[in-house]
Amino acid sequence: MDPRPAATHIVGGVAASGGREWQRPLTVLSGVGPATAERLARLGITSLQALLWHLPRGYEDRRYPSTLQEAAASADSCVVVAEVVAHRFVGIPRGGGRSRRRGTLHLEISDGRRRAALLCFGRAYLARTARVGSQVVVSGHFTARSGTIAKNTTATVVESSDFELQLIPAGASAHETPWFGRIVPIYPLTDGVTQLLLRRLTLQLCASLTATEAASADGHGLLPLDNALAAMHWPEDFEQQARARNSVAFAELLTLQRSLQRRRPPPRIPRRLSHYLRERVVATLPFALTSGQMRALAEIDADLAANVAGSRLLQGDVGCGKTLVALLAACAVVEAGEQVAMIVPTELLARQHAETARRTLGAADINVACLVTASTSGSRSEGARSRAHLLAALARGDVDFVVGTHALLQSDVAFGHLGLVVVDEQHRFGVAQRRRLLGKGHNADLLLMSATPIPRSLALTVYGDLQRTNIRELPPGRQPVRTHLSRMDRLDKVYRRLGLELDRGGQAYVVVPRIRANGPGTVDVKSVFATLRQSPLRRFATAMIHGQFDDASKHLIMEQFRAGAIKILVATTVVEVGVDVPGATCMVVLSAERFGLATLHQLRGRVGRGAAQSYAFLGYAPSLTAAGVHRLQAMKQSHDGFELAELDLQQRGPGELLGLRQAGLQELRVADLARDLELARQAREVVQGGEEAPILAHHRG
Ligand code: ADP
Ligand code: MG
Repeated sequence: MDPRPAATHIVGGVAASGGREWQRPLTVLSGVGPATAERLARLGITSLQALLWHLPRGYEDRRYPSTLQEAAASADSCVVVAEVVAHRFVGIPRGGGRSRRRGTLHLEISDGRRRAALLCFGRAYLARTARVGSQVVVSGHFTARSGTIAKNTTATVVESSDFELQLIPAGASAHETPWFGRIVPIYPLTDGVTQLLLRRLTLQLCASLTATEAASADGHGLLPLDNALAAMHWPEDFEQQARARNSVAFAELLTLQRSLQRRRPPPRIPRRLSHYLRERVVATLPFALTSGQMRALAEIDADLAANVAGSRLLQGDVGCGKTLVALLAACAVVEAGEQVAMIVPTELLARQHAETARRTLGAADINVACLVTASTSGSRSEGARSRAHLLAALARGDVDFVVGTHALLQSDVAFGHLGLVVVDEQHRFGVAQRRRLLGKGHNADLLLMSATPIPRSLALTVYGDLQRTNIRELPPGRQPVRTHLSRMDRLDKVYRRLGLELDRGGQAYVVVPRIRANGPGTVDVKSVFATLRQSPLRRFATAMIHGQFDDASKHLIMEQFRAGAIKILVATTVVEVGVDVPGATCMVVLSAERFGLATLHQLRGRVGRGAAQSYAFLGYAPSLTAAGVHRLQAMKQSHDGFELAELDLQQRGPGELLGLRQAGLQELRVADLARDLELARQAREVVQGGEEAPILAHHRG
């Protein structure tokens, strides 16, 4: 197949692209009054367009009718055409004989050869609508069991309680109704919205669509978007459905690619790089750079010296030393007379990096500042004054290197001459945010760093506009973290083990998914902290840290932990990203099944940073399924972040890996990046080729 589908063909969509016509309310459809419109709004369906995008979650194949005999013998759902022959009310209703209710309605139906009973629990109204003598289409699961039909007489009774019934209008045949002889969609529902209602509406809508446009596939088997959407609701066969699905997925991926496409940067005067400052810094390091770090630096240097601004994604496993690479890259930019801004997702990390930067870059007299939202110390006015001070210095170009949180994005933050933007833990940021920071400079270079490796296949489609560098090796002397799994009701053993490690001088993180417990069997930071204080581990200094602590306390606790004054740190995932405490040797993760493998790998990467053997203990709920335990076992076997990310992608989709903030990703309703990588690649090629791409408006209600 030609890898470049005709994008223009996909573009031909009026409904999908949200023409005015399609923004009309649902009340323009027959059968929708204000009350029904109200109920549909609960599903987010507020316009014709939104209805078109309310896609089926599955289908029922009603093309081939069964006899009741066949239906009874089949384990699958079957469709039967039959006549209602009797109404019976079975069982004594609650409230005894005085009640006006008459027990459960059994609709007796016959296909001419056999009879069956439809047990109408809670559907007594069928007595009114499905009158004796009427023809019906029934689809559902039928079973045969032996039952008593009269006193002392038993026979095989065919029945169904899980069925859908639709009336065939008098004088018509089943084939004249839309509910028979075809593939029927099954929609996601909510209270008060029935399958029948949605089917009636989409049928009306799709009939008008297919009538106005001939739905012919192009040479690549792709349909125009409107027709594709219509065919996803009411496909003629499953081949057409698959084609329609791929067409819609492709259209979505085109939109995604367009939103990711970075405008080709304009030419600039190349920097003339010199490395006096970098050499001074390297001379003070207590270790040599790894070959991976050196290679990464060489590639970044080439970007910095190029005649257009570069964009590079630096990926490398936790602990491989990406921060240092960024700092050394910064040296060259500062030496060229420009500024460097590093944005990180948390204040904790901002402070840690600022300190590392001061320590490391101080050797070269590079001045470092830290900008976070809240002021850490002193009165508010003092904080405001120092912030104003810092902003002025940044604007004058007096600060060489600034580390900050989202605070860097604020509109009053300006730079004298910003030359390099570093985004650490880049999956925590959206495309718009990195563009915003870049926009504060002039032709500034971009360096994205991530320890959540994106599988190559996925990276190509989502980060295709970036150059990529992988650091594959860890600094020498690191031993792989030994990983153990433990049921949460057997943590005693884990804690005993922890005691031994701490006696040897190690330190431990105990990570808990949430601040508060939600539901039975879940643990929360506070109760775990309390439990530890009651346990033999109470002999070790223990502290707790979570997102509700203010910045100053978090900072203080982390400092004490780093200094070794605190031995056990009970924490939420605030420690997940980037925290670097070389003395920590044990990582206990409770309710580990709640986390993706990539996140667990990140957490595990918080230990094993020094020379000592380190351990990870993953506690899981006793009720965890075998498949769930199996998933966690991958953590024992693999220490390769790329491999674990690949598994995560297969098991949990790309959301967690990429961060839902990635532009456009949450807009994908049909396309699935784990499964549609090939389509994504094709969409990328189309967009790069500059062909027209569609504008899709999605509605989430
Ligand atoms: P990450 O890549 O996960 O961001 P960090 O930048 O936090 O990793 O670095 C992990 C630790 O490794 C830090 O303590 C850092 O000082 C140390 N480190 C970095 N490079 C080297 C090296 N070449 N040799 C030894 N230790 C190193
Ligand atoms: Mg890091």
